[in-house]
Amino acid sequence: MRYDRERATAVNAVRIASILCRTIQADMIGDSTIYKGDKSPVTVADYSAQALICSLVKKAFPNDPIIAEEDSSFLVEPENAFHLECVQKYLDKVLPGIEPDDILSSIDLGNGDVGGRYWTLDPIDGTKGFIRGDQYAVALALIEEGEVKVGVLGCPNFPLEGSGSGSENGALFVAVKGEGAEISSLRADSKRAIKVSNISGPLDARMVEGVDAGHSNHEMQSKISRLIGIQKDSVRLDSQVKYGAVARGDAEVYLRLQSPKTPDYREKIWDHAAGVLVVEEAGGRVTDTKGQPLDFTKGKTLSANSGVVVSNGLFHDELIVAIGKLSRHQAS
Ligand code: AMP
Ligand code: MG
Repeated sequence: MRYDRERATAVNAVRIASILCRTIQADMIGDSTIYKGDKSPVTVADYSAQALICSLVKKAFPNDPIIAEEDSSFLVEPENAFHLECVQKYLDKVLPGIEPDDILSSIDLGNGDVGGRYWTLDPIDGTKGFIRGDQYAVALALIEEGEVKVGVLGCPNFPLEGSGSGSENGALFVAVKGEGAEISSLRADSKRAIKVSNISGPLDARMVEGVDAGHSNHEMQSKISRLIGIQKDSVRLDSQVKYGAVARGDAEVYLRLQSPKTPDYREKIWDHAAGVLVVEEAGGRVTDTKGQPLDFTKGKTLSANSGVVVSNGLFHDELIVAIGKLSRHQAS
């Protein structure tokens, strides 16, 4: 298949990084010197994951730019030497002998520019979830001419067989354009194809949305949900695991409407690219609030789009119509 090498590289890199993040979370959150809400674990995990993934992707594809969320400016400061030491300690387990300078330059491999073909990476999406011990994701995607070709989501705290199943935590969602989507354990066994649910209308539909009230518009999302007739309460989850939940059929709708607290914020490409392909290849649909596809050709942000609407595709147009109606009503 056309993207076999890209897929194998991305799966390997995201899997190792996800396992590393899980180790860091367990070690550091269990450490009594770290206070609840302390950003140290997420900082160390973020930089470790970015250094690792960027170095593995660049080694396999030296000419491909990578656009990743972090850069080395924090770690390079002498007062943050402790963080750099921690990153080195964890990375040494997977890249033996790595030196601080290599770590900084590997992180900065993620400072590429969006072009015809590029990778985009969020080393830890859902940092607040990570700190709380809830959901977060390691998200990597390959984009060519604005089309996502490969998407991999590592979800270290996501229950493999669905919530309440008592199954192990740790899932890897993988999608390749035109080849479908699949889920496997973080150990990469028990691989299976996934499909969105076949619930065809709002009556039985389940909705997911972000936890953070500053990242989307909870009030408007709840109004849309009521307007189209969704009966169930929405479930709040951090990070792109929401895309995984729709792709696997745990939910039918994920709404992310512009937060009124940050009207000028534009969505970042690394917060969506991998998730979009996972949902689309599982048979679902992803658009902005006007029904337009997300445009990955505009740089680091989705500046041509407003909001994100994700669904199993069976009543997507109804959602778009309801959002339009409510927006016009609020504007008048
Ligand atoms: P979520 O876990 O769904 O709330 O999404 C987490 C992501 O939201 C983070 O990785 C941030 O990049 C992104 N984010 C930060 N501020 C905003 C905002 N004002 N609106 C939408 N997304 C945001
Ligand atoms: Mg993010």
